[in-house]
Amino acid sequence: MSYSSSPVMLAGYPCRILRTSQKSTTLRVDSDGTLRIRTNRRISNQQLERFVRAHEDWIRQAREKAGTAAQQPLENTIRLLGEPWEIRTGSLCRGEGWLQVPAGEEDVRRRQLVLLVQEITREKCQQRLAYFAPLLGLAVPPFSIGRSNSQWGCCRKNGALRFSWKILLLGERELDYLVVHELCHLREFNHSARFWALVETLIPDWKTVAQQMKEAALSPAFQVWRPY
Ligand SMILES: [Zn+2]
Repeated sequence: MSYSSSPVMLAGYPCRILRTSQKSTTLRVDSDGTLRIRTNRRISNQQLERFVRAHEDWIRQAREKAGTAAQQPLENTIRLLGEPWEIRTGSLCRGEGWLQVPAGEEDVRRRQLVLLVQEITREKCQQRLAYFAPLLGLAVPPFSIGRSNSQWGCCRKNGALRFSWKILLLGERELDYLVVHELCHLREFNHSARFWALVETLIPDWKTVAQQMKEAALSPAFQVWRPY
């Protein structure tokens, strides 16, 4: 017994259906946003359509979590540090103000784009660390670039820093704040008053920047990049 191989559309959602002897109908959402429905073999598609409609709020949330926003077609440009970068089609490479990824499925192209943006993030973070570290009496620490959705950056006990490439989707001020924040942890490994006072010496308006970063993370333009 297996799910229908090609999805059927119910209430506007692609669904794969498995009919068995089970009495109840169960529903889950696949990572690509398809609904997987197990139900009794006597239940008709019309009945299932009503079932789907009745659970639409839950379905919408589950699909958002599954990252189906990412199925949206790739735009022609991506804003990095506030500047529009052109997205071209061709072999994987980049130049000043443009990124080039091979033709193909949107999801694959987005992943390749992220690889290029990660390289740029590494360069920008290197530059900003080199600028701010001496101002705090520090050497430039080792750092890496990650893909976290929940953390912009972090500072490890061993003194290594980590930054999410997604900071580039915001602006120069946000990047500077993040770099300073993590560098300050090398002096104060906590969020004490002393830590924030240190941050404030280099980023006087850090509170505003931090608030804007929180809001930006919830915007649709940002959410599209959540799974990557
Ligand atoms: Zn912190």
